[in-house]
Amino acid sequence: MQTNGIDLLVLFPSPNLYYLTGFMENPGERVLMLILPASGEPCMVVPQMYKTHIGHDAWVSDLRAWKDGDDPVSLLKQAIDEKAPNPKKVLVDDQMWSLFFLPLQQVIPGAKFDVASSLLGQLRMRKDAAEIDLLKSAGKMADQTFEWIITQPFEGSTENEIANLLSAKMTELGGEEVAFTIVASGPNGAMPHHNTGSRKIERGDVIVMDFGCRVGGYYSDITRTVICGEASEEVKKVYEIVKQAQAAGVNASKPGATCESIDQVTRAVIDEADYAKEFLHRTGHGLGLELHEPPYIVTGDKTILEPGMTFSVEPGIYIDQKFGIRIEDIVTITNDGVMPLNQCTHEMQIVK
Ligand code: ZN
Ligand code: ZN
Repeated sequence: MQTNGIDLLVLFPSPNLYYLTGFMENPGERVLMLILPASGEPCMVVPQMYKTHIGHDAWVSDLRAWKDGDDPVSLLKQAIDEKAPNPKKVLVDDQMWSLFFLPLQQVIPGAKFDVASSLLGQLRMRKDAAEIDLLKSAGKMADQTFEWIITQPFEGSTENEIANLLSAKMTELGGEEVAFTIVASGPNGAMPHHNTGSRKIERGDVIVMDFGCRVGGYYSDITRTVICGEASEEVKKVYEIVKQAQAAGVNASKPGATCESIDQVTRAVIDEADYAKEFLHRTGHGLGLELHEPPYIVTGDKTILEPGMTFSVEPGIYIDQKFGIRIEDIVTITNDGVMPLNQCTHEMQIVK
């Protein structure tokens, strides 16, 4: 903060707050904020009913509690006046609701605001060994869930039913929160973020499954595409191209490469095969305490890859009205290369 001329950081219940304090909570309508000055000890303004919980989980010891019915904004003003009087440059949580940001702006008139990710993004991008262990465990749960789901019958099941099976399996394996389950069958697969629904899976369908869970706050995110019964020649051909593009992206990932260069590598394989227009999205995204976070594997992201950076490589080809194919693994940059956090097969799987 001092290097960047930032006087004050104000966080709200969010992944940033968890990252810096150890306290995780969903945002709510009560004022709960971390006040972190560029020098000196931080404090937190917290609802009385959370004080014990925060005292237990967070390392911050200066907790200023307010009771329902009190005016928390005056408490907030007092804390800021004390910790960082008249701050000129203030970072606020990207996810802070307007409900709290607007009063905060009034409490510190004249301050220039920016989002916390402009600073914390740089820190959170580089995962340490403990974070990588959690990401690995989450990745393993996703792998095991995939290996199990392909033994289950698909024909005649709805997308929702398959999604429920995926969720139940991840929970059974110890996933603490099932983050999402996308099951997109047949023509629905041509929409990369299809809303899983009641469509019944038929023989010949291509089924895109994209899912993940959390371990210790850290996400997994995997996509595999399977075929019900029998694959057409077109499906086999497109599957091979996506598989090659994904492998090329992983192989190009190493310290020193830029994020956008990885996107270019996967895109080149797909362009070469004449499916450029059918690759509808970027190659990948960082992941950690959030499912999508910096760095982004996309043209324009010139971040240079460093050990610990963890992101998805997930090219796809989407044939409108017919089918989609995507393969996604999470990878971590190591000192001399890359380590995939998903190990389950990339070969085309035929399900019943
Ligand atoms: Zn995914
Ligand atoms: Zn993803």
